[in-house]
Amino acid sequence: MNVHEKLAILADAAKYDASCASSGSKSTRPGSRIGSTEGMGICHSYTPDGRCVSLLKILLTNYCIYDCQYCVNRITSDVPRARFSTDEVVRLTLEFYRRNYIEGLFLSSGIIQDANYTMEHLVAVARTLRVEHGYGGYIHLKTIPRASGELIAEAGRWADRISVNIELPTEHDLVQLAPEKKRSDIEQSMTDIKVRIDAQRDDRQAGFSAPPFAPAGQSTQMIVGATPTPDADILATAHHLYSRRKMRRVYYSAYSPIPHADARLPAQTPPLVREHRLYQADWLLRFYGFQLEELVTPAKPNLDLDVDPKLAWALHHREQFPVDVNRADREMLLRIPGLGVKTVDRIIVSRRHRTLRADDLRKLRVPWSRVQHFVATADHKPRSQLLECPQLVRKLHPKVSSRQLSLFAEA
Ligand code: SF4
Repeated sequence: MNVHEKLAILADAAKYDASCASSGSKSTRPGSRIGSTEGMGICHSYTPDGRCVSLLKILLTNYCIYDCQYCVNRITSDVPRARFSTDEVVRLTLEFYRRNYIEGLFLSSGIIQDANYTMEHLVAVARTLRVEHGYGGYIHLKTIPRASGELIAEAGRWADRISVNIELPTEHDLVQLAPEKKRSDIEQSMTDIKVRIDAQRDDRQAGFSAPPFAPAGQSTQMIVGATPTPDADILATAHHLYSRRKMRRVYYSAYSPIPHADARLPAQTPPLVREHRLYQADWLLRFYGFQLEELVTPAKPNLDLDVDPKLAWALHHREQFPVDVNRADREMLLRIPGLGVKTVDRIIVSRRHRTLRADDLRKLRVPWSRVQHFVATADHKPRSQLLECPQLVRKLHPKVSSRQLSLFAEA
């Protein structure tokens, strides 16, 4: 099989992995001769949820000894198989990089023989790129739970970002669909990575010249919609990973039906908008001061697909609006549908100098047609009963098929 045939198989096999944003790496490695993580000569293309689309995203191999039911590469799947050598991945990365097709490499793999054997091969690619070719571009390596500490240390030394997939939202889901994987192993790997990231940061802060360890942090991916697990549990797991394992990002990946799938798996992919709502809720929890129980409750454990979670919260708390933008604290300003973090910060700076009017908000690039119902300014005082008006509520509830409301103001 030639390299192009392998590439067709192994790039296709990697498309199910969503956890490959390249954000976070701020500078090119010192002493490198090719490749840059900065913006020159390569196009960084981020989707609104932060994914970068300019990586060579491949598997080292799609052979796998595991039988995760949701995965097209599981041992019982009859897909065509292929395996790259270290040199083939290195050559492809450098060639694509030189042609400016990619910003970097995202490399994952099915599990061959065992965790250490697989990890050795992943690390060899990164090491060869960095040491033999002086490659300074972005590398994201997937790490394998239960791989040795030495291999994880070396992976973090050469890669900008490393990740371990949490796979499914709950331990119960994992037992059902991926019995060879253990939640405790996955979380232990995440903890080991976190400890190394923290140690490296502490050494640097103390003035020691410590070798780099995954400067863009660690991320993970969670498949949603493969089991009936509701958004409340998905977001609770994400919250746990952000707070306890210091994840840089949790990626939500809608389950894609695969050929000859287990009968317990759904026949259809969940609506894409569910993924989008989860990202919006994730953002609210991390940057907007929302608590999980404000977005999902035992009585309503799934996010509303028709309306973004911030607007849904506002419509359930109409008594808190309109918010006086000249007086409200930052926390309350962040709860106004249509206002993003940057816009809120601009409002706070501007109101120190003058009492804000509607025109001032427009000049601050506030999406006025949406925000006007929720804010009061010196010259604009909407009646709070306006939010009860059925036409207004309909206007703020666009159908899923129409353009989705943006949680993140174009700031
Ligand atoms: S270990 Fe990874 S590649 Fe192998 S079957 Fe499970 S999800 Fe697929």
